[in-house]
Amino acid sequence: MAAKRDYYEILGVPRTASKDEIKKAYRKLAMKHHPDMNKDKTKEAEEKFKELSEAYEVLADDEKKNRYDQYGHEGVQSTFRSGGFDWSDFTHYGDISDIFGSSEGFGGSIFEQFFGGGVRRSGPREGRSLRYDIEVSLEDAAKGVEREIRVPHSVACKTCGGMGAKPGDIKSCPTCKGSGQVQRGQKRGYASFVTITACPTCRGAGKHITKPCSDCGGAGSVETTSTLQVSIPKGAEEGMRLRIRGAGEAGPNGGPSGDLYIVIHIEDHPVFDRDGRDLWVEAPITFVQAALGAEVDVPTLDGTARVTVPAGTQTGTVLRLKGKGVPDLRGHGNGDQFVKVTVVTPTKLTSEQKAMLKKLDESLGDYGKGTKRKSVFSRFGRGG
Ligand SMILES: [Zn+2]
Ligand SMILES: [Zn+2]
Repeated sequence: MAAKRDYYEILGVPRTASKDEIKKAYRKLAMKHHPDMNKDKTKEAEEKFKELSEAYEVLADDEKKNRYDQYGHEGVQSTFRSGGFDWSDFTHYGDISDIFGSSEGFGGSIFEQFFGGGVRRSGPREGRSLRYDIEVSLEDAAKGVEREIRVPHSVACKTCGGMGAKPGDIKSCPTCKGSGQVQRGQKRGYASFVTITACPTCRGAGKHITKPCSDCGGAGSVETTSTLQVSIPKGAEEGMRLRIRGAGEAGPNGGPSGDLYIVIHIEDHPVFDRDGRDLWVEAPITFVQAALGAEVDVPTLDGTARVTVPAGTQTGTVLRLKGKGVPDLRGHGNGDQFVKVTVVTPTKLTSEQKAMLKKLDESLGDYGKGTKRKSVFSRFGRGG
């Protein structure tokens, strides 16, 4: 996939632009690139117009803008219903409707199609996509797991095939003759415009149902709850999306159902920190173990592992357990587990123990107080 362009760059505004400047920039560019204004290169204009609108959708919204400023495109992907921007995600129609609304005569046509008005209403359309968030433990994400989920959604009515009535009971709308649109002439000064809007009688559907289907009441769809088996793959990562085709909302007028997107979230783990395929864990040891070396038990995803801490280990030392991390999602082997050793200094000592440690200190002499350490004491002179 090609790298996505920066939203500010698309709208041609600096990152410091105010809300008003962003809106102005969008309106100006929307006017220039609107498909209705570029009839000779409609496809290109459509793409351009959609890109502009995606950028505006994010930058016009404080929360989305914040996320984008902090995390870039990754930060806002999940705010789009199907994982990528689609016209159904656009909520700022009101900010440009006056430009393309009835007053200038650009109503109807492609713009109406984008926003669900006009022509397409009368034909079958794809249903809306749904999103389902699922939480899994780190262990389940690492090993993969099967989950059963229950998703409420609409499905096409079987009785009428999603049409809302038997074929004989569906007539063309008398107002728009089935087109779903009406034209209105309008004079402004010397010029006259033809405005195309969705038919008010059938609200753009183009049809008139004489006897609604008894099972769905004419809606063409019924509500249900589907039980689905979901396979969380081995090595699943936070924010990963699984797509189940056709498990979204029923499509209007007998159109195909939308998709279901399952967004995976990994629960925080009390012991492990995950960094991609690698795991991190802390292992506290006593200073005697650090000095003399020891075998310590460390938790891993497959149970406890015995780890050798070499004699003379310093606090902060990181040991590696090769292949004990999380499996790669694409099958490129396992990550590693890193064990960060922390030497715990005893806090409650008896006077006898203190005396022993003093003796040990004397026997060690200057060891560990060496010259290579630049402590504040040596710079300012110990004890004045
Ligand atoms: Zn029905
Ligand atoms: Zn009509």
